[in-house]
Amino acid sequence: MTHDAAVSNAREIASRVLAPSAGQNDKAGRFSTEAVKSLGESGLLGLMLPTNSGGSGLGPGTFAAVVATLAESDASVAMVYVMHVMGAAAIAAARPSAAPALAPILQEIGAGRHLSTLAFSEAGSRSHFWAPISRARRNGDGVHISAKKSWVTSAGYAQSYVVSALAPEGAGATDSTLYLLSAGTRGLSVAGPWDGLGLRANASAPIALDDCHVPSDFQLTDDGAGFPAMLNLVLPLFSLGTAAVALGLCRAAVAGTASHLKSARFEHLGQSLGESLPTLRAQLAAMQIETDGLSARIDDLIEHLEEPRETTMLRVLETKAAAGEVAISVTSVAMRVCGGAAFSKHLSIERLFRDAHAGAVMAPTGDVLREFIGKSLLGLPLF
Ligand SMILES: Cc1cc2nc3c(=O)[nH]c(=O)nc-3n(C[C@H](O)[C@H](O)[C@H](O)COP(=O)(O)OP(=O)(O)OC[C@H]3O[C@@H](n4cnc5c(N)ncnc54)[C@H](O)[C@@H]3O)c2cc1C
Repeated sequence: MTHDAAVSNAREIASRVLAPSAGQNDKAGRFSTEAVKSLGESGLLGLMLPTNSGGSGLGPGTFAAVVATLAESDASVAMVYVMHVMGAAAIAAARPSAAPALAPILQEIGAGRHLSTLAFSEAGSRSHFWAPISRARRNGDGVHISAKKSWVTSAGYAQSYVVSALAPEGAGATDSTLYLLSAGTRGLSVAGPWDGLGLRANASAPIALDDCHVPSDFQLTDDGAGFPAMLNLVLPLFSLGTAAVALGLCRAAVAGTASHLKSARFEHLGQSLGESLPTLRAQLAAMQIETDGLSARIDDLIEHLEEPRETTMLRVLETKAAAGEVAISVTSVAMRVCGGAAFSKHLSIERLFRDAHAGAVMAPTGDVLREFIGKSLLGLPLF
């Protein structure tokens, strides 16, 4: 698959599958299994996997374009996709001794029949996902894990979960290991409902792990090497993915607002809202400026990921922090410009507004990112 084919597949799925049902799925908090099926059939679930693992071997630029396209129609599905691509990347990067056991799973992902996700956050350490409370215990061939994973996108729908836990002999708070648990693992269960303010259709429910056995060939990283994998492999793509979701939301907000300003009319003046009020035109323009600024920032991050350099990690942190703020700002202006029509839920703007708030609270949260950036500018240790 080429870049253009991937984006065109995303566009087709967005208009045929996502757009018609996004509003209803949001209202009902319903996970779209048909969206995942379409993503699989179109080859998008294996987008970034190496070609020798059955994937398309495409890079961060294509990933961002696909995610933004999906998010324009349904940010819940776009975030399901982002978390899957993270999970797939972690599986593909597993230590060599796990490769034979994981090869069939990668082939299934490439064939579009396997959805994965990340289960990092825990009730005990909250948004500080780099410091799991749970600890793996050695047991025969592998480990046993018990954990309270507090939010897991696609909970109950994914075929596998990339799980973090402290390494059995880990001494520090970040000495974690990553493991792959299949959905059918005994002791793994969805531990509650998902009823979020935004991204309501992505099943980000808690998962309980009750003495789950993980054989050693499903241990993805060496003992204690989970933290560097989170930082160097997962975080850059997660920052890009969440920023692309934010971009899709902003584009949808601009388009929805422009459409409302053209169609809603002051009949007593014989003009549309947009023709009548310069203040609304100015706010629409400000939304467009912020959206294009975010797009440029994402392009800059893609360049930094394609050709890593000294400033790459700074860009990774900055992009997620900035994207969260821009999405909230643009969708908030859209709410104001579209007035009562948005407030009374006659437009999809209020869904975009609610969805936009998720990015900033997904870890690393915007606050944590600003704290990291500030510390690094002052030469202070981050952890
Ligand atoms: C829609 C959605 C999907 C999610 N999906 C997943 C998933 O698939 N996998 C997964 O592992 N997790 C997932 N999460 C969890 C997410 O990554 C965070 O762990 C979670 O949102 C943290 O919420 P909290 O209230 O526990 O944060 P808290 O840690 O209680 O934070 C509360 C406030 O304190 C601030 N804060 C915390 N630490 C600092 C600090 N050091 N400096 C400054 N401010 C700080 C935060 O920014 C926040 O404003 C998801 C969350 C959402 C909303």
